[in-house]
Amino acid sequence: MVEPQPYLTYHPLLAEVAAGSIDPRHVVVPLRRVLPDCRVMTARVTRIEHATRRVWVDAAPRGERGVPTELPYDLLVVAPGSVSRTAPIPGLAEHGMGFGSVGEAVALRNHVLEQLDLASSTRDPALRQSALTFVFVGAGYAGVGALAELEDMARYAAKGYHNLTAEDLRWVLVEATGRILPEESPELAAHTLAELRDRSVDVRLSTTLDSAVDQVMVLSDGSRFAARTLVWTAGVRPAPLLRDTDLPLDVTGRVRCLPTLQVLGPDGDPLPGVWAAGDCAAVPDPAALTAATAYCAPNAQHALAQARLLAENLAAALDSRPQTPYRPERLDCSTSLGLRRGVAHTRSGGQLTGRRAWWLHRARHLRRLPSFDRRVRVLADWVLAGLFNREVVSLGAVEHPRSEFEAGFPPQ
Ligand SMILES: Cc1cc2nc3c(=O)[nH]c(=O)nc-3n(C[C@H](O)[C@H](O)[C@H](O)COP(=O)(O)OP(=O)(O)OC[C@H]3O[C@@H](n4cnc5c(N)ncnc54)[C@H](O)[C@@H]3O)c2cc1C
Repeated sequence: MVEPQPYLTYHPLLAEVAAGSIDPRHVVVPLRRVLPDCRVMTARVTRIEHATRRVWVDAAPRGERGVPTELPYDLLVVAPGSVSRTAPIPGLAEHGMGFGSVGEAVALRNHVLEQLDLASSTRDPALRQSALTFVFVGAGYAGVGALAELEDMARYAAKGYHNLTAEDLRWVLVEATGRILPEESPELAAHTLAELRDRSVDVRLSTTLDSAVDQVMVLSDGSRFAARTLVWTAGVRPAPLLRDTDLPLDVTGRVRCLPTLQVLGPDGDPLPGVWAAGDCAAVPDPAALTAATAYCAPNAQHALAQARLLAENLAAALDSRPQTPYRPERLDCSTSLGLRRGVAHTRSGGQLTGRRAWWLHRARHLRRLPSFDRRVRVLADWVLAGLFNREVVSLGAVEHPRSEFEAGFPPQ
């Protein structure tokens, strides 16, 4: 197993990490503990040459470049997932934050709480206004979940300030298409939209962010306002590694697969010895109704179900047994919208909202979270959060542990 992080991240619970309902360590699963019979390399694959069955692996620390070493293999599983799909918007790289890792979830939580401290302490009305304006771009699972959980947390946190109320906070959700939550049914998405608007979230549909220079947000509908928080959750693209492979890619850059998750060869037969799954794989969806949905969407449900089938098919290949095609089960999507609020689809095709949806959402993710140890810890976090007041203090200083020490040295 070659993976730059020594752990697996369970993304669907990251919004609750940002809200402080779950300890960040509990949504990650340490690979060496759950894969005791496997050699885990904390490194990045930089290139794959399946024709000669070799990968190149770089073990240099994050942000540095080492000399990749060659690793030969017999069978290969390709599952590097996806990365945030950024856009060349002026000011985005300087002022935007992503929301796809535990580090980003913790940083965003600290950042939002820091803005409340700043707004409460400054006497500059313009600074106060921009500190209390939070902009999220992209209304999929990640954007809606993160905004709803953080809005709920900040609403609670505002009660602890003598000169702030929840009504002073401005939350803006910018979405380029005409609807939110494309993964959910139109009815459930409409309910979520109504709930967000009921909470005074300013949802701008069919609108794009044109500029964020100097933390001034310029939207395509002509509006312009200052905001010190800009969260970019506008979709994903396949992992960049795939471009440095000799595997066949589709127009979106995903690895072309057969329903058996074997990578598709040039003659339409499986390419021997290589499988792919998850966000990086273009796996045909037999239930597709339109050409646009002909391949499985990048989501955790497909990724987990494909992973299980891939393991079975790989074992079958070693035993010379036939391969089984992937048949997606009916998707049972759900999103938490803060404490005791959510929306969910049931397996039978029904829809739930409010408290019942929220309980179902928690039960589902507790069942899906890999490792018994993590399930118990997350459950304990939820029980403790229910018994005590929410923790709403910013620990932003932990992100700069050397700053106090450096301040002790006289200026040069
Ligand atoms: C904030 C957020 C919330 C989400 N919420 C939901 C939800 O509620 N429901 C839902 O169904 N889906 C949700 N998703 C989507 C879901 O998390 C993904 O679809 C799923 O994680 C994909 O699984 P994967 O194994 O393909 O990729 P990942 O889980 O991303 O795993 C890929 C792994 O490959 C590693 N990797 C990448 N490049 C290399 C390389 N060059 N060398 C070695 N390793 C590499 C990465 O470090 C990563 O650990 C959410 C995603 C995010 C970001």
